[in-house]
Amino acid sequence: MLSEASNGGEPARPPYDLLIVGGGINGAGIARDAVGRGASVLLVEQHDLASHTSSASTKLIHGGLRYLEYYEFRLVREALIERERLLRIAPHIIWPLSFVLPHSRLVRPAWMLRLGLFLYDHLGGRMTLPRSRGVRLDRDPLGVPLQPAFKRGFVYSDGWVQDSRLVVLNAMDARTRGADIRTRTTLVDARRVDGLWQATLADAAGGTRTVRARALVNAAGPWVGSMLRDRLGIATTKQVRLVKGSHIVVPRQFEGEQAYIFQNPDKRIVFAIPYERQFTLIGTTDLPWTADPGQVEISAEEIRYLCDSVNRYLRSPVSPADVVWSYAGVRPLYDDAARNASAVTRDYVLDVDVAAGAHPADAAPLLSIFGGKITTYRRLAEHALEKLAPFLPILKGSGWTAGRALPGGDLGPGGFDAALARLRKDAPFLSAEESWRLVRNYGSRAWTIIGDARGPADLGESFGGGLTAREVEYLVRQEWAVTAEDILWRRSRLGLHVTDEDVARLDRYLRDRQRDAAPEDRREPCPAGVALAG
Ligand SMILES: Cc1cc2nc3c(=O)[nH]c(=O)nc-3n(C[C@H](O)[C@H](O)[C@H](O)COP(=O)(O)OP(=O)(O)OC[C@H]3O[C@@H](n4cnc5c(N)ncnc54)[C@H](O)[C@@H]3O)c2cc1C
Repeated sequence: MLSEASNGGEPARPPYDLLIVGGGINGAGIARDAVGRGASVLLVEQHDLASHTSSASTKLIHGGLRYLEYYEFRLVREALIERERLLRIAPHIIWPLSFVLPHSRLVRPAWMLRLGLFLYDHLGGRMTLPRSRGVRLDRDPLGVPLQPAFKRGFVYSDGWVQDSRLVVLNAMDARTRGADIRTRTTLVDARRVDGLWQATLADAAGGTRTVRARALVNAAGPWVGSMLRDRLGIATTKQVRLVKGSHIVVPRQFEGEQAYIFQNPDKRIVFAIPYERQFTLIGTTDLPWTADPGQVEISAEEIRYLCDSVNRYLRSPVSPADVVWSYAGVRPLYDDAARNASAVTRDYVLDVDVAAGAHPADAAPLLSIFGGKITTYRRLAEHALEKLAPFLPILKGSGWTAGRALPGGDLGPGGFDAALARLRKDAPFLSAEESWRLVRNYGSRAWTIIGDARGPADLGESFGGGLTAREVEYLVRQEWAVTAEDILWRRSRLGLHVTDEDVARLDRYLRDRQRDAAPEDRREPCPAGVALAG
């Protein structure tokens, strides 16, 4: 039950320091940082955590090589520094990935790529990832999947992230430190009353509550503008620019762990990335979006465009008929009036609105987030709290999140490989692949899932793809999972590995579990129609 100001005679609780609207990466990152500084925090997410843009990304922890062309040096430098930090604090769900960039004379000259990569290697300072290098694609195995016309290229490094899990881990850590995280809870509206924010929240069961907070954070992603206008009644000169991006997933197109970055004649780039062992992920597009961000989906033209983009380079062509899955998301970019969608800045802008003429202690600040990247979420959170600190002294002080592992990220000496070897020894009844998946998803928490199990039977019912009742229980109890979609497409990507019968069985299990649960443990599933990004 939500804590409230005045709800049908129930006692009023003291106001929260921070009410955060939006359980994407930015909301979750701010919640974690703020609660760790001692603030009382309530985060509300209308659907599931990461159910929108933060599960629909290309999943790169990257500086953004192409942003150098737009002179976004500040952003690239910050992102490169963050890349190193995130690889350290979440080594289970974030890992290095090397990229092969074939040289195509028709798009950019080799000297330009060399210069860009030189900057990329040096802008972020000390880096643990391998530096970029040239490669003879006509002689190196990395060139095998490519058409013979591509003889030269470059190899550089970035990071890969399980995007929706990064959101959940930030929310979990925030909860452990005392934050109240409410999924399937919508902020209906909020107004300034006596120097505080007073907000109406609605849960999926139809209940409403009023809560109070000293400051409000609008981390609503693609809804940042409509939140200001329609729910908060606040005018701002800052605008969000919605830019759709889509991806396709096809059966694996090439051997090896490396990804490819292909330059298009329109100057855009498209990635082809090994995905979920048996697949290749291809994306993305950049298209203006004006409709409801909750209804975004890939179009036939985008599928064609993505196939054409990789077919200029790959030896064996990909066709729309090969697509096994696709997803689309909306980038909530800060509108810098750029002419085309690819050129709009990927940097973020934080806007603070305060009650006119009020003393800082009664200013009831509202901070709205425009733009941003998954890669820069942690730094964005620090900047957001710096902006709020003059009004909320509890937030003062230096950031603490750069050096603290996210849940499961404390893999111990030897990192991922050693943790995997330990799990193989401790749970020999798991296949090599199952152990790998558990450590990749949960890190040191894999042992919490396995618990006292001594054999496969102890893990309970099996739902395909290695998913067992033990893991489902963990996801429901620890990670706010409610529906099969939460589990198969956001807590994991097992949706790609299970059959329709598996999904039906999981649905049934969750329904039965819900029916038999004590009333206080019941959670309402997402309303129909919010199944997206997957
Ligand atoms: C195609 C694509 C590729 C990308 N690739 C990368 C990449 O490779 N690397 C990278 O670093 N970044 C990438 N990004 C950018 C990154 O995904 C986004 O910047 C980031 O996910 C935005 O997070 P957010 O928290 O602002 O928004 P969201 O994740 O959309 O979260 C906002 C949340 O607010 C909730 N909300 C809205 N209104 C309400 C309300 N009234 N009450 C309660 N909750 C509400 C929504 O339900 C939503 O879950 C990509 C983006 C796209 C679209």
